[in-house]
Amino acid sequence: MSRVAVVTGAASGMGLAVARHLADRGHRLGLLDLDAAAVQQAAANLQSSGTHALGAAVDVADRATVDEALGKVRSELGPVEIIVTSAGIDEFTSFTDITAESWNRVVAVNLTGTFHCLQAAIPDMLDAGWGRIVTISSSSAQSGAARMAHYVASKGGVIGLTKALAKEYAAHGITVNTIPPGFIDTPMVRRAEAAGDLPSIDAVTARTPVRRAGTPDDIAAACVFLCSDEAGYITGQQINVNGGWYM
Ligand code: NAP
Repeated sequence: MSRVAVVTGAASGMGLAVARHLADRGHRLGLLDLDAAAVQQAAANLQSSGTHALGAAVDVADRATVDEALGKVRSELGPVEIIVTSAGIDEFTSFTDITAESWNRVVAVNLTGTFHCLQAAIPDMLDAGWGRIVTISSSSAQSGAARMAHYVASKGGVIGLTKALAKEYAAHGITVNTIPPGFIDTPMVRRAEAAGDLPSIDAVTARTPVRRAGTPDDIAAACVFLCSDEAGYITGQQINVNGGWYM
């Protein structure tokens, strides 16, 4: 069954892979991202392989841009039935050096941005009596991570938000789950590696139980299952996709 799916952070990394996998299953796609040119290109690529897709530039921290983009999705594709929130930013700073501005931006994008997108999408799901929501949190919110207090706090908030909404909407046919990725080889991680903020991919691979870095496709595979009809009895869960790093 073809449904309308919205993916945030859809121009890069996990969001891009999730959009491709959902398109492969015949869904119509609304791709949202801060990077206007890249998200339009991602949508054009899906269109050229036969998917009904549109791209929209949003800053998820800015509610007006989210509302405008979801309005466009509704008028061109139909009401939102699936949403995956992958838009996010990282930052590495010792706790005592985190400025209020930096704290606020990380929380605004990662946590408040997720709030904006879900609050804008859920009314469509309530009308339909069916919905699938997957948030992308982080294994760092399960394990802790030095020099990432603002990031870890924001992702812990995403996990809590996911569980709260799972309880609130379970009786309405809407499931809400989170994937806390481990170390996934994406542009975000490559930037952090190049800046010396994260160990090299090889070093991480050596201490990962499955002995490889995760890929965006690993995340997308779990995500499309959680977005399927078959996953209707799974809600409020953290589905760990981390190569055995954290259990
Ligand atoms: P990525 O390749 O950098 O993709 C993230 C996308 O989100 C980028 O296209 C980015 O655009 C976009 N974005 C950033 N801020 C935004 C905003 N305010 N509004 C809309 N879009 C915005 O990173 P990724 O590794 O795929 O990360 C996806 C998610 O997984 C993030 O939430 C991240 O925190 C989380 N995560 C990643 C890892 C990992 O190992 N990679 C591990 C745990 C959790 P720009 O490029 O223009 O900024």
